[in-house]
Amino acid sequence: MSVPILTYHANNINGNDYQSNDHVALQADLQLIHRLGWQVITMNQLMAWHRGEAEDDAVHQAVVLTCDDGTWFDYYDVDHPFHGPQKGFLTLLQEHRQNTGQVAHMTNFVIVSPAARTILDEKCLIGQGWWTDEWWQPAQQSGLMSIANHSWDHNHGVLDNQNHNDDSFRCINDRAACDQQIKQAQNHLQQLLGEREGGAYFAYPYGNFSDYLRHEYLPKLGPEIGLQAAFTTVAEAVTRDHDRWELPRFVCNNDWQHVDQLAALLATIQRPIGLT
Ligand SMILES: [Zn+2]
Repeated sequence: MSVPILTYHANNINGNDYQSNDHVALQADLQLIHRLGWQVITMNQLMAWHRGEAEDDAVHQAVVLTCDDGTWFDYYDVDHPFHGPQKGFLTLLQEHRQNTGQVAHMTNFVIVSPAARTILDEKCLIGQGWWTDEWWQPAQQSGLMSIANHSWDHNHGVLDNQNHNDDSFRCINDRAACDQQIKQAQNHLQQLLGEREGGAYFAYPYGNFSDYLRHEYLPKLGPEIGLQAAFTTVAEAVTRDHDRWELPRFVCNNDWQHVDQLAALLATIQRPIGLT
């Protein structure tokens, strides 16, 4: 038994077709998932199964949805200056529920540092103040989204950062750097949002990591700072054999580029019981 985690980037708006716009892709993918009779489960449900606390039936033909980086495009409907009106991911999840009755929950991994988001908004987004955090609480309260940890500042290349090293997270490789990137972010999220369901997860920026972070820091200190699992971008479905600090995810418009490719991907993962 295995369960694919599907990852989107709401910031990915470079046009208005599937391959240039993750909002178009998510909408089409949700329709496909429903049409095929698959279900969307929460990260908590996946992890309960991963720990052996739920039967295989609970994750039969199931996917988990995640979204990385966390901007207004996750939550608000925004009039994009170059590509026109865009529905926020939350709106797409709400419309999907209205149209199909299917609840599709998403875990939103956000960049936590306010100062870093201000700079990223100017240098990497459109400089409209769309990388703020006032939507985190209502997103959480919507019941369709959980806000989770995508590090303090993504160790992003545009930031004046002592650990900056060509858009990689591999140089976060000692206690001080890990505390700064992960513990600080986790504490900030807990202060802002309180202890809550779905807040115990970390997604590695760029999908990569140092040996120290993966094999020492998270296994030893992760639970202490409120984390239960960490996620990469290795294109595999999650099995119980995967270590909880290195759980794989498929990335939209990287590991699949068309709704038919997602259908093919799902077909290889779990065949319906009783069919050969
Ligand atoms: Zn990221």
